[in-house]
Amino acid sequence: MSILVVLEPSGDGLKRTSYEAITAAVSCAAGAPVQGIIFDATESQVSSASIYGLSSCMIVHGPEWNQLQSSFIASAVAEAATSIDVTTVIFAANAYGKSIAPRVAVRLSAGLITDCVELQNNAGTLAAVRPVYSGKARVSVHSVTAKTVVTLRPNVFTAKQTVATSLSTSAFTPSIASDVRTASVTGHIINEGTLDVSEADIIVSGGRGLKGPEHFHLVENLAKSLGAAVGASRAVVDAGWRPHREQVGQTGKTVSPTMYVACGISGAVQHLAGMSTSKIIVAVNKDKDAPIFTVADYGIVGDVFEVLPKLATAISTVTGK
Ligand SMILES: Cc1cc2nc3c(=O)[nH]c(=O)nc-3n(C[C@H](O)[C@H](O)[C@H](O)COP(=O)(O)OP(=O)(O)OC[C@H]3O[C@@H](n4cnc5c(N)ncnc54)[C@H](O)[C@@H]3O)c2cc1C
Repeated sequence: MSILVVLEPSGDGLKRTSYEAITAAVSCAAGAPVQGIIFDATESQVSSASIYGLSSCMIVHGPEWNQLQSSFIASAVAEAATSIDVTTVIFAANAYGKSIAPRVAVRLSAGLITDCVELQNNAGTLAAVRPVYSGKARVSVHSVTAKTVVTLRPNVFTAKQTVATSLSTSAFTPSIASDVRTASVTGHIINEGTLDVSEADIIVSGGRGLKGPEHFHLVENLAKSLGAAVGASRAVVDAGWRPHREQVGQTGKTVSPTMYVACGISGAVQHLAGMSTSKIIVAVNKDKDAPIFTVADYGIVGDVFEVLPKLATAISTVTGK
């Protein structure tokens, strides 16, 4: 099985989801070299991947790649995958991967398996496990096409460091003519200092129990003390208290953080669908019979207005945040 992993730069290295994807690829590759492709990154950012087992990486240089529509990036990835004749292309199932992976699958006439939580190499055939019916069941899936494109649910595959490999990099110049680049992204809304829930390691979410948007600073302060992202239930998003990008659940984002803290959230089945695979679930709710306690590892039966400030103060004394 030959694998190409689509990587994303972040800070001095790569996004954690990229290291997770490399780890998953290495475990499936059965010793075959794992190759990567990345857009607008430096060699030094890419070199951080050698400790995770990446063998080589194509770098597509140029800041303009951050401003192009997904379809152009998909064309470039498909061209790279064809040029090195890989059987499998792996993305993280984040916004970037969800937007590009299906387009790559179409261009490669490949089967697409999204939101995988397990990958296996069954005698050279990729087999994946993915949740269905809002997480109530899991199915094993394999593609019947010669090539397969998969996306991996963030925070499920633990990024594992191995013995550092000698990682080679090369420049890759896609053949897409500049005159077919018919549209470009002219601006990004950057939420300075905020973490995206779909990739955060810890999430503190608030629900209707907060009583109004003016009380969400309680959730934000607890999140800050933990270095966590802020999430929300649909009830508070629908009410306009919080932006939709923070919504967790069936019609929001699916998350699998190391710790999920649900504050004043009842635990409706549609909310659980988006967060029940979190590794540790903590719930604060004044109703001891709230359904959220059926999935919680730790529960505090109490009033968010009393509990959250105490938790934030106690935790920030330890974390210094
Ligand atoms: C098709 C469909 C899709 C949906 N998708 C989603 C989705 O993606 N995400 C999602 O979240 N929901 C979704 N919903 C809505 C879902 O069914 C619930 O309505 C919603 O999750 C409820 O949000 P909540 O828990 O914040 O509010 P509530 O259900 O009103 O719960 C508030 C909780 O706060 C507690 N509380 C009240 N005051 C306090 C206090 N002072 N201190 C502590 N606790 C307190 C209460 O005991 C209660 O448990 C969807 C529904 C449908 C039909």
